[in-house]
Amino acid sequence: MQTKKLNHWLEQIAPQYPLMIAGPCSAETEEQVLATARGLVDKRIQVFRAGVWKPRTRPGNFEGIGEPALPWLKKVKDETGMKIAIEIANAHHAELALKYDIDILWIGARTSVNPFAVQEIADAIRGSSKIILIKNPVNPDLSLWIGAVERFHQVGMTDIGVIHRGFSSFRPGQYRNEPNWQLALDFKQRYPNIPMILDPSHICGRRDCIYDMAQMGLDLQYQGFMIETHINPDQAWSDAKQQVTPKQLLQIIEKLCLRKQNFADPELLDKLDFYRGQINQLDNELLELLSERMKIAQEIGRIKKQKNVAVLQSARWEEIMQKAIDKGQKLQLSEKFIRRLFKAIHQESIEKQEVILKNK
Ligand code: PEP
Ligand code: MN
Repeated sequence: MQTKKLNHWLEQIAPQYPLMIAGPCSAETEEQVLATARGLVDKRIQVFRAGVWKPRTRPGNFEGIGEPALPWLKKVKDETGMKIAIEIANAHHAELALKYDIDILWIGARTSVNPFAVQEIADAIRGSSKIILIKNPVNPDLSLWIGAVERFHQVGMTDIGVIHRGFSSFRPGQYRNEPNWQLALDFKQRYPNIPMILDPSHICGRRDCIYDMAQMGLDLQYQGFMIETHINPDQAWSDAKQQVTPKQLLQIIEKLCLRKQNFADPELLDKLDFYRGQINQLDNELLELLSERMKIAQEIGRIKKQKNVAVLQSARWEEIMQKAIDKGQKLQLSEKFIRRLFKAIHQESIEKQEVILKNK
């Protein structure tokens, strides 16, 4: 996929600040939409969002106002100058979004999982000059996310961005949707020219962690945010727990620390180079040590083969893990990190030993 031109829209909309898309989960009434928008008028908020059709997990909940809400959004645009963004989930929504001249269309997480729906929407907006933002699919599948982007690219859309909104998981955890940072960073690495926007609201699922999540996004160089904002969050008809008031959003923005993107300062560069040199050196040593460790594991594999012993020796493995956790604790390395690291090392050792055992 050619991605050279993909982010010129971002420079036009948000040349000075990170892109900020704010507004309610759902458009509920004209008053709620206008009051929320009026509270958001600020040079650091460039786009007003509102869900007009709501994909709800179970039937019987509020499913959005639909077409009658679109003129309310036009009013917001005329009155505040903000651009307007809505979610579209099928070709009919796409046609209405074009009819009402909505600026930015986004594909929701429950739609990007479905290649048929994505293709139908792509065909419906073929040739339009709209900006399209594609949320990650609900399940952590990088190819599916990339596939959705490709479908819009194939119909000639050039103004494409992606939104990282986290991934659902079976087990309840700290977040409503697990961030799985590595997956999003893999996307970023493969397509560095596609702007990536963070949606702290749908990751957190509760308003008290929106700020921390947004700061994390800035630190990881996300180019923008989508944050659900409601004039009266507790009374919201959808996603009440995660919405903040316009005033709270402005306080969050005020507190966010924009790390310098500009590395023109030679003193800073020298300092960074100094530390990066040390990191490179340590990384080399780590890799050499790991390689040595693997060679020893292979030697053990050969002995196991001679004696016809199983590769996995659970007791020994538990002992290694426990020792590593204890040592890690003394070295200020978290148990979670040690477990992940040693599982990966152990997996590689097992694979190497298996090759030896399989060889005649
Ligand atoms: C939303 O933005 O309100 C929404 C439904 O998001 P998602 O597709 O990420 O669940
Ligand atoms: Mn929502």
